[in-house]
Amino acid sequence: TTARTVVARVAPLGSRLILALADDRTRERRVEAVRRDFVANVSHELKTPVGAIRLLAEAVTDAADDPEAVHRFARRMLIESDRLGTLVQQIIELSRLQGDDPLEKPVRVRLDEVLAAAVDFSATEAEAKGITLVTAGEEDLEVFGSLDQVSAAVSNLVANAVAYSEVGSRVLVTTRAQDETAQISVVDQGIGIPAREIDRIFERFYRVDPARHRSTGGTGLGLSIVKHVAATHGGDVSVWSVEGQGSTFTLTLPLSPHQTPSPSSPPNRD
Ligand code: ADP
Repeated sequence: TTARTVVARVAPLGSRLILALADDRTRERRVEAVRRDFVANVSHELKTPVGAIRLLAEAVTDAADDPEAVHRFARRMLIESDRLGTLVQQIIELSRLQGDDPLEKPVRVRLDEVLAAAVDFSATEAEAKGITLVTAGEEDLEVFGSLDQVSAAVSNLVANAVAYSEVGSRVLVTTRAQDETAQISVVDQGIGIPAREIDRIFERFYRVDPARHRSTGGTGLGLSIVKHVAATHGGDVSVWSVEGQGSTFTLTLPLSPHQTPSPSSPPNRD
């Protein structure tokens, strides 16, 4: 590297450091606000199914001599406890994601394995709704990062595609290499997302139609997990949707290992 490059890199360092420190404080405050918000939301979201299970248990006790009612309440208890289980699992997943950097020890992640795991994850649900899950794409495509995280992200997208599709439809999962990235697309023919809601669906706990989720068991955390995984891998996630026709979610991940810039690392002086 020439001397000129060194000067160009080192000269603005002082101001950059001050900016970086100010940035750090702003970021800390923001992180703290997000954390407080998250805890408040988690408490609220947990109270709902716990409260419902309690009410249903009381109803079962009161209806002891009405087998049909007992059966009906017990079924709803099952749904609520499944919902609670998923919620707890996703909250754990999300906080684990925030704690560790998968790219400290990136490994090769084969996308065909990721797709197979994702399809497996939703197979029972898809079968119950008569939904055909189809995978297609380039063989031997690999990205770098965490197998668990990439699988969790794709599994969430496939699970959503199945959950928000009508009986008998088709969900297509494809992979392809484009420029320096791998693109994983999940295409459904489901209910779609209203244009006015599309910017909000990646927010934690955001659900387009909360009433519907009482029955589908949605938590509103799945897409936050996907977004987080995309970010830690240096990629992104996008969505295209037409209400009533279907949605396509595309997760784009770099083909080569992603380096997270470390704020504490010394300036490059070579
Ligand atoms: P949830 O657990 O509720 O599915 P997500 O964070 O995964 O939470 O998704 C947020 C919201 O985005 C969902 O509640 C749903 O309204 C909408 N959504 C996600 N995926 C799809 C899809 N494939 N088709 C239609 N709506 C979707």
